[in-house]
This record gives sequence, structure tokens and C-alpha cells, in this order.
Amino acid sequence: MTRITRRDLLIGAATAGAGSMLAGCRTTEIAGGAARGDSSTEVAIVGAGLAGLTAARELAKAGRDCLVLEARGRVGGRTLNGQLPDGGPIEIGGQWVGPTQDRLLALAAELGVDTYLTYDEGNYVDFRNGQRTEYGHLFPADPAGVGLNRIPPTDPAGAAEAGASIELLNMMAAEVPPDAPWTAASAVAWDSQTFQSWMESNLVTPGGKGLLTLAIESVFSAQPRDLSLLHVLFYIRAAGDLNALINTSGGAQERRFVGGSQRLSILAAQQLGERVRLDSPVRRIVQDEVGVAVEGDDFTVRARRVIVAVPPALAARIRHEPGLPALRDQMTQRMPMGSVIKLMCVYPTPFWREAGLAGQATSDTGPVKITFDNSPADGHVGVLLGFMEGTDGRVYSGKTPDERRAAAIECFANYFGDAARSPVAYIEQDWSREEYSRGGYGGAFGPGGWLDFGTALRTPVGRVHWAGTETAAVWNGYMDGAVRSGERAAAEVLALL
Ligand code: FAD
Repeated sequence: MTRITRRDLLIGAATAGAGSMLAGCRTTEIAGGAARGDSSTEVAIVGAGLAGLTAARELAKAGRDCLVLEARGRVGGRTLNGQLPDGGPIEIGGQWVGPTQDRLLALAAELGVDTYLTYDEGNYVDFRNGQRTEYGHLFPADPAGVGLNRIPPTDPAGAAEAGASIELLNMMAAEVPPDAPWTAASAVAWDSQTFQSWMESNLVTPGGKGLLTLAIESVFSAQPRDLSLLHVLFYIRAAGDLNALINTSGGAQERRFVGGSQRLSILAAQQLGERVRLDSPVRRIVQDEVGVAVEGDDFTVRARRVIVAVPPALAARIRHEPGLPALRDQMTQRMPMGSVIKLMCVYPTPFWREAGLAGQATSDTGPVKITFDNSPADGHVGVLLGFMEGTDGRVYSGKTPDERRAAAIECFANYFGDAARSPVAYIEQDWSREEYSRGGYGGAFGPGGWLDFGTALRTPVGRVHWAGTETAAVWNGYMDGAVRSGERAAAEVLALL
């Protein structure tokens, strides 16, 4: 058995201070290359997203030997920097960070990555029943509901009902133990229905239902009918409250990372050096009495323990010997990924700002029902960001890029005027088509998932430990949750080594 040989780091000009140089950072700029042949380490880690890389950092800090095996030719997983026409970075995966996402912010501080505020000045736009309305968003959010930062008051009755429902959901969520949602006093009732069923029973106005549906679509990239009510409440609890999930200022969309969010993973991988192997999909994990063998197409890594830091839907595609407990396998069958296409139009200037608009729109008319101003910090070009989520994402995944571009431009023009019809560039990423993501923003349980299968989400199976944002009890589904899961899994393993 040979040990992994050290290869030279080829990190190019990428440094903590040169964000734009990191856009589209490829294999050769990060690590030595793919895993090949036989090697050994103390802890193998599957996946070089924020969860896997954080686990590796923690193990390395503790003086332990580890090796991260990443399927793609890049690190960062669901975070990815694309390029603007001038070569500058633009985030085409996860991007925002907000208050209380302390572990992600701590990682950024350790890596020397700063944040800046998402552009959130001026009026928001609501496009409903073919009518366009501008409104001043209130901040801090109005606890009464109407005028909540991201809830448009266009339809007052609907807005009031949505606001009151959000308060009710926050109260219900406060009763869900984030470490063990299945132990909530009302867990059986709440996990026995979808969020859609709950809305049908508790809301009466079409406007209120429409706004809550939009909130669910934009938080989960799934439909209210896809999700267990208990899962939605757990998710709210894991973030603090629903306002934290949907708001820009004061919420999860408050800030962006200088140089793009993928920079965190790129810098972490550069520091880990030869401990990260790209183009190394793990296909099989074999446990025996002395250790574990983590196998790819042309490599085998022997380790004492393995941390699988991929979403359950992806973990299910790795074969195990001996087979996993039925509960663990069936858990992975109950947590599908959401469906999201993230797209952006680039303009010579952020023209909507001159019109007093924040670039943020909500709409009942898809396929882009929610938008943001995603221009670079200095606003030297304008970038409108839109999402096709849930059903819209599923329908438009089957269309051509030209069809998606045309549909997105039509939406942007409805919200921000005809100037939106002439972008200089169009950027898109359909996360459902990514072999090693299979969707986004994350995985979510349908009804019954938490009750019977929740215990299997984090429980190690022999020498196999589980990480990834889907396993987090705080900021589940977010980059912060990914970091926390990596820390938790590393601590679990360190206690056993
Ligand atoms: P991943 O990033 O999915 O990492 C898993 C890694 O494992 C990947 O690199 C994958 O290639 C690899 N892998 C998979 N299978 C194998 C295998 N068999 N062998 C080896 N490697 C494998 N979060 C926020 O906090 N803020 C946001 O603004 C935000 N917006 C988002 C927008 C989009 C469009 C998407 C898709 C996600 C967004 N998220 C956001 C969610 C956030 O990106 C994720 O929560 C986070 O990046 C997950 O990190 P992770 O390490 O748990 O998983």
C-alpha cells in the first residue's frame, strides 16, 4: 500500500486578495490531480463542497491525515463562480450570507474573504395579474405582516393573511427541536401533511396562498405539495424564523462574498493542497473489521473512517458493502433535491437603479417569479438575477437555452421595463442537470420523511459518517449549514480515531 504522493500546487495568480482571478478556477489551479491507484489515509472524505472541505480543515488542524475525493474537476459543489463578459466573477450557485450564519462567516474570516451588502435600495416591484406595482419595502420588517420586507402589499388582504401566516408558522417552528424534529409534540400531525394541505386548511385568500407559495418556491425550489409541513417548520427553525429565510437586508440574502462564494472552497482547497483530489468520483465503499476502502474507477483509498459529504440523493448512488441499513437507504429515497435554474442577464449599467428600483421583483407570472440585483459591488455593469424554481425549473429544464433566455428577458422586461430586453450577456446554470448535484438548492423531506427516517440522517453506519448541509440542524440547506455539518462530522470522527 503506497501513500498519496505529494504533487506541486499550481495555484496560478489566485490569492486571497485577487478575487476576479479565481473566476472559473480549474483543476490545475487547485490541486495535484485525480486519485489513482492504491493509497491510504486516516480519514477519507467524499465531496469537496463546503461540508467536505470544512471537515478536512478540522481534521488537518487536529493533526490528522485526510484525503478529499471530489467527483468534479473543481471544488465548491453547489457554489460556483462563473464569469462576466469582462472576466469578473459572478456566482451561479449559492451566493448569499446573512446574519447568524456565524460558522460560514468565521470560515470566510479565516480565509480572508470579505463580504459586501447585496444592493437593496429603492423600491421593489410586484407583478401580479398582469399589473406592475412599485412599493417601498419596509425595514425592519413590520411584525404585523403587511409590508414585510419581501411580502408585497399589492393585494392587501392577501398580504395581511400571508403576514399573519408567517407569524403562525414562526410560532409552530419554535416548537420543533432542530436536532430531532420527529420529537416535536405535533410531529405526527405536521409530518402527515404537505405544506400545500396546511395552506388549504389555514388560508382563505388566493393572494395569501399565492404569496406563501412563492415564499416556499423561492426558499426550497420545490412546490408546497412536495414538502412535509414538519420539514418546512424544521427548516424555518434551523434558520431562526421565516423572515430570516426570505428577507434581503436582515435576512439570508443580505451579503455576498468578495470574489464570489466559490472562492471560499478554492482557498480552502489550496490550503489543503495534495489532500484534495479532483476528477475522483467515489463509486463504492467497502467496510471490514480493520477499516474502510473508498473506491473509484481507478483508485482505492484505505482509511480508518470515511465522511460522506454529499446530499442524501447523491449518497444513494454510492454502493456499499456490506449494504447500508434499510432505514438509511430508504431515508435517501425520501429526500429529493429541489429543481432550480439560476440565470442572469448582464447590462451595460444597472439601469433600474436610476429609476429608483432595487432590482428585486416578485411575481405570480413565471417562469422567473423572483429577481435580485446581482451587479458587482462597484456596479460597473448591471446584472439582473432570476430563478426558475420548482415546477418552472422542471418545465424549463426541458427547453433550450434560447427559450429560457427569451422567457427570462420577457419577465425582466415586465418587471423593469424595455431596457431589460437588450442584455449584453446571458448566463445560466440548470442545477438539476448537474450529475454531481442533481438539483438544488438542497434536499427536502416529503411527508413521513422525518417521522420514520429522520434518525438515519446523521447516524454513522459503522465507519461511515455523514455530512453535507442536508444533515445540519442550523441553517440546513445553506452554506452555513454545510460548514456546520463538516465541523460536526469531523468532531465525530476525531472522537473515535
Ligand atoms: P455540495 O456543495 O453539493 O458538495 C458536495 C460535493 O460532493 C460536490 O462537490 C460534488 O461534486 C461531490 N460529489 C457528489 N457525489 C460524489 C461522489 N460520488 N464522489 C465524489 N464526490 C462527489 N446557500 C446559501 O447559503 N446561500 C445562497 O444564496 C444559496 N443559493 C443557492 C443557489 C443555488 C442555485 C443552489 C444550487 C444552491 C444555493 N445554496 C445557497 C445552497 C448552498 O449552495 C448549499 O447548501 C451548499 O453549497 C452545500 O454544500 P455541501 O458541501 O453540503 O454540498
